[in-house]
Amino acid sequence: MTGRVTPVSAIAGTIAGKVFLVGAGPGAPDLLTLRAVRVLERAEVVFYDALVHPETIAIAAGAERIAVGKRCGKHSTAQRFINKRLVDAARKHHVVVRLKGGDPMLFGRAQEEIAALRAAGVAYEVVPGVTAALAASAELGISLTQRGLARSVAFLTPRVGEGEKPNAWARTAASSDTAVIYMGAGQAAMIADALLAQGVPGAMPVMVVENASLPGRRHYTLVLRDLPRVADLGLTGPALIMIGEVYAEALAEADAASQRLRYA
Ligand code: SAH
Repeated sequence: MTGRVTPVSAIAGTIAGKVFLVGAGPGAPDLLTLRAVRVLERAEVVFYDALVHPETIAIAAGAERIAVGKRCGKHSTAQRFINKRLVDAARKHHVVVRLKGGDPMLFGRAQEEIAALRAAGVAYEVVPGVTAALAASAELGISLTQRGLARSVAFLTPRVGEGEKPNAWARTAASSDTAVIYMGAGQAAMIADALLAQGVPGAMPVMVVENASLPGRRHYTLVLRDLPRVADLGLTGPALIMIGEVYAEALAEADAASQRLRYA
């Protein structure tokens, strides 16, 4: 008997379920889009990341709810396994939700999941969410762009996955008016060195924002040369490092109130 592989196009349409990649927002459960709420209410199964708030997951009252990890440095379900579970779930259920922190299209590995769904002929839809940088900016009351001061913003991460080439994140951060660094708080000293080496002044204002939109939120005002101090803060929540002249006024205020974080 000659074994024949069924082409993807032939099985497309045979899978009834649809997978929704849904942005859960930065943490606070009320920073969710209405579209996300409506999809969660219809969900039959939800696969959620570690940073998603329990109240957000609870909206999917009628769904089987499955944690799939994803918290820096801790155990998490391998991406390939998540991809497979999404495809399998779409074979059994009509509405499958993959709930991700912030926005799915930013540092969320959405593309790998989309590729797996497409390859299996599974329909999908992405529902955007509020990314951490926007929630942090809202709380600080400091715009990422400002007339005459900042016209470009970069969202970046120094984190490189296994087997990946390091990218030019430091050059990008140095050449953007405002830079928001995701997944970087654990590498503060390395980030400071890399940016100083790119010619960013040691006196450049920096904001470190932990737990944006959540009750345990905190922010620290400092300058680039003091960034290694962040390692001593004992941050436990997710944190962003935000760099740029837009934070100069906040730095001056922190100095006036003797609240600047210093390396000493
Ligand atoms: N897709 C998410 C980002 C996932 S990467 C988004 O759009 O926001 C995870 C990183 O996001 C964390 O390491 C941290 O740098 C940042 N982050 C997520 N939630 C945060 C929060 N509430 N406060 C500060 N930073 C946060």
